[in-house]
Amino acid sequence: MKNKIKPEVACWEGKEWLLIAKNILCFSTCQGGEVKLQAQLDKLYPESKVILLNSARAGLALSLQIFNQNKPLRKEVIIPEYICESVPNLIKECGLLPVYAPIKQDLNIDINRIYGLCSDNTLAAIIPHMYAKPAEIVQAAVMLKNIGVYLIDDAAQVAGVNVDGKPLGSFGDTGVLSFAQAKTIVTGVRASGGVLFVNNKELTSGLSLLIGDLQPSVGRIMPLIHFMLSYKIQGIAKTLDYYLQRIIFKLKQNKDKNYYFPITKISNLDADLALAQFSSLKKRIAQSKLLIKCYRDALLREEDYMPVQVDSDDLYLTRFIIQSQKTSPKELSARLSEQGVVTKFVYGNGSKPYDGTFSSGLLELPLQSLSEQQIINIVKSFRVT
Ligand SMILES: *Cc1c(COP(=O)(O)O)cnc(C)c1O
Repeated sequence: MKNKIKPEVACWEGKEWLLIAKNILCFSTCQGGEVKLQAQLDKLYPESKVILLNSARAGLALSLQIFNQNKPLRKEVIIPEYICESVPNLIKECGLLPVYAPIKQDLNIDINRIYGLCSDNTLAAIIPHMYAKPAEIVQAAVMLKNIGVYLIDDAAQVAGVNVDGKPLGSFGDTGVLSFAQAKTIVTGVRASGGVLFVNNKELTSGLSLLIGDLQPSVGRIMPLIHFMLSYKIQGIAKTLDYYLQRIIFKLKQNKDKNYYFPITKISNLDADLALAQFSSLKKRIAQSKLLIKCYRDALLREEDYMPVQVDSDDLYLTRFIIQSQKTSPKELSARLSEQGVVTKFVYGNGSKPYDGTFSSGLLELPLQSLSEQQIINIVKSFRVT
């Protein structure tokens, strides 16, 4: 059997594995990771108050809560129509209503369409940077401030990218960063860490009251095993994990365990891993840029397959999405699978056959940790039938 080429969800080197071993050997009681990560992020995001949490979702929930305290009559939150399901779900859990805005070809929210969706009922807009491609956050911040709508700079998927000299996450009233699988900084999955950036100083004291003294995170070993089996190794390990999770679920007293609540501090293991990921960030961004350029060059000869987000030669992305305009994503995925290339369907309904809209015909191809030759081979496989 040929070695499969699959999307990499975490670019870990020896350092990360050593930290996991260290944390397991001292039963997650190793101290210090959190303090060091705090110092590092205070330096990287000098204009924001940095609060380390167990997920980005926690940061979104706390932001919406404080916004709603300040403007209790407003219930609508604007988000792009193309986004990870966890975000609209969280908005509903907060007792608020998601309002969907159209996206552009780069899969980011079309900021020109936000104004028309705003009313006296609009509390906030959440603007993500899909797969690390910056949305037009500067323009959005000016416009929303003028009409009194809060803005969350949702940099869950991206660290290490600046716009106008400021890091993504530090625009708007608050911002978030996630350390979950397939983001820029990856420490695991299921509440493996996140950051809330408080950028509007008027919110700092209210948020500090709301948060109080956060409890430490506990029980990070089982989610780590789940991450290894289902995300890092995949294949047969995923099946094993499925049964393992079912057995654990049966044994648990508390049946509907929600990994994201309560909101806690980040665990020391996740903080240690995040620090290691920040130290390799520059190198990883440079590698991704080369591979994206390689995809772009290879796709120039393909009329029916568009690299939707790539609009410059010097772009960093965490994941690589194409739009297949004639072949349905399902068919293309099956064709590539026969060549040993594993692809992924995208959020929501985005992998339905192309229908002329930006959120259709999409398929994720492997990117991180590949060689340039592998990318050329993947694009060649588009034509093999
Ligand atoms: C992943 C993601 C989140 C949630 O991150 P968690 O750390 O899993 O809570 C929020 N927004 C966007 C855009 C994301 O991609």
